[in-house]
Amino acid sequence: MPRGAERAAAAARAPMSVVLDGKAIAEGIKQRLQRELAAMRQRPTLGILSFQTSASDIYRRAQSAQAASLGIATREHAASPQASQADVERVIESWNQDAAVHGIFVHQPMPPQVDPQRISAAIDPAKDIEGIHPQNSARRFFAKARIGSCTALAVMELIESTGVDLTGREAVVVGHSEIVGRPVSMLLLDKLATTTVCHVGTDKAGLLEAHVRRADVLVVAAGRPRLIQGAWIKPGAIVIDVGINVVGGHVVGDVEFEAAKARAGFITPVPGGVGPVTVMMVMKNTVEAFKLQQASA
Ligand code: NAP
Repeated sequence: MPRGAERAAAAARAPMSVVLDGKAIAEGIKQRLQRELAAMRQRPTLGILSFQTSASDIYRRAQSAQAASLGIATREHAASPQASQADVERVIESWNQDAAVHGIFVHQPMPPQVDPQRISAAIDPAKDIEGIHPQNSARRFFAKARIGSCTALAVMELIESTGVDLTGREAVVVGHSEIVGRPVSMLLLDKLATTTVCHVGTDKAGLLEAHVRRADVLVVAAGRPRLIQGAWIKPGAIVIDVGINVVGGHVVGDVEFEAAKARAGFITPVPGGVGPVTVMMVMKNTVEAFKLQQASA
């Protein structure tokens, strides 16, 4: 029996949930990337543009560290929180024009004077490793994406590690942002899951609990600590908590972890779930972008 199918069968038999180990899954992806990189004559370079605010600093540092350990070079630019749209676009354009830079990642949130949609459109689509350029978003819409949102791909990797076939399953995504909720919902549709997307309107209408209760697969990306109560989880469900919130000096997700764990079949912890896999997807997408550029050179 394949490893995933074995785990799915074990979860169905056992009353306890399986806590999905994001670090172990990331390590598996890293080992595959190491083998691929070892066979390459040239190494890719990743441009990381962040803002001098602490919100995504842990993510940025993890990207730099993993890139260094894989031998992927980085160009890093930490823009001032006062940087104008033109300042940010200038950095992106210099990386677009530089054949030695193969992937570009721009951290969110951006300061209010910078428009994220214009920034997405400013990145060369061939170097857009988050899949946010309109051309790449359109490819995702038609299920033809070559490179997709790193977080959404990480969510799918974690779901696939359970071995559960998504065909006809009820999938509920909480959050509809352009970098997480929307791309995840498209990828779930591609797997033939019956997919519902919830957002602030759902919560305001008092319907969040009802949707969550029928989810065989629940993906939460709202950035609201403990938005999802453990008692709402359908017994045996796959629960993927994307949220990262700092509460009382501790990092917590959007789901009440302990109570949800008592009901779920599979659940991701925060930290140690989606985060490490997402960082590795940034590396994987950089390598993919590099290969596509080499192939079209
Ligand atoms: P975002 O752009 O702020 O989007 C949050 C989404 O949640 C929005 O669509 C929002 O809906 C929805 N939402 C907010 N409050 C809600 C509520 N009470 N009920 C239902 N929906 C609600 O954030 P994001 O970039 O998608 O990130 C979401 C979370 O994931 C954050 O905590 C972020 O730090 C984390 N994250 C983690 C990783 C990782 O690798 N682990 C990667 C990226 C992001 P409206 O638009 O209608 O307001």
